[in-house]
Amino acid sequence: MKIDAGHDFGTRECPGCAMQVEANHNRCPVCGYEFPQPGTLQKSTRWGALVLLIIFVVVLLRLL
Ligand SMILES: [Zn+2]
Repeated sequence: MKIDAGHDFGTRECPGCAMQVEANHNRCPVCGYEFPQPGTLQKSTRWGALVLLIIFVVVLLRLL
């Protein structure tokens, strides 16, 4: 049986060099790969709200 020491919930694999990087690190210390920031998710949520607002206005204008 092989013990996988690298399997830990506190780490994530770097797409650049396949190195196990600590989850709290935003940048890989080996190759300098920058992990995507959580801010991009908030941006897409804001866009979703904007699209819903546009749909609401279009429906409202059709009713008038
Ligand atoms: Zn890396």
